[in-house]
Amino acid sequence: MFASSFSETVPDPDDGKYHITAENFDAKAMEHVMNIVHVKTKRLPQKLDLELLAHIAVLVNYYDMKDAISFHAEIWAKAAARNKFSVKYGRDVVLRTFVARAFSDATDENFKRGADFILQHSTGPVPDIGLPTLGLADMLDERRCKAIQVMLNRINHLGRDIESHKWGCSDACRAMLLGSFLMKCRALRSSGVRLNQLQQPFVGFSFHDLTQKLSDCASSFTWYSRRDGNELNHQCDLVEFVETAVKAGKVTLEKKFDDMA
Ligand SMILES: [Zn+2]
Repeated sequence: MFASSFSETVPDPDDGKYHITAENFDAKAMEHVMNIVHVKTKRLPQKLDLELLAHIAVLVNYYDMKDAISFHAEIWAKAAARNKFSVKYGRDVVLRTFVARAFSDATDENFKRGADFILQHSTGPVPDIGLPTLGLADMLDERRCKAIQVMLNRINHLGRDIESHKWGCSDACRAMLLGSFLMKCRALRSSGVRLNQLQQPFVGFSFHDLTQKLSDCASSFTWYSRRDGNELNHQCDLVEFVETAVKAGKVTLEKKFDDMA
């Protein structure tokens, strides 16, 4: 079982027995893993809570025992995933996502759902859950920052787009659109959002919240143009421009995940 270079593979010279140093591992998690390894499966519960499953994941990763316990771990992980998904971003979502990923691959629907929720709603680095997340937290932090940056870079190209007549139907229209957008962005400052000064890791801002704020800036002031002697309520806005930027960010957000370390 422990045929590796770990200290636990060397018998104690005093009693000739193998000792497992479990000071950093959860005792209950260790007990369940040992019961699987020693085929004492009648002692195993049908369900485990997320905390315990996460502890088992860390233990299993440390000893590289995923194959040995995968049958039971997948049953537990799937049972845990059937619990109601929290609509609030927090420790529960991070644990669910970590557990789903630890006992399956990156195509697992429960993992993808949790990862997408974190990427959309996290307002900073993934919170510490008191356990090593085997690279998951870093991976999600990096992905979230990149997606927000891609979206903001696109937004910062508005002036260039306006110059090249990409949006708006006339010079007057483009002047109105640009002025309207800049004024609405300026209004956001009162709520602490300075779009042109946001920097990674974008603490305090989720991808989801930023898309909402940008959408609010996309509508234009109401103004009137004259055509054929008639006064027309001008219809142009920057909704499509903002949607393009959000879409660029989402492409980054939704890229396939590589395997965890
Ligand atoms: Zn127009």
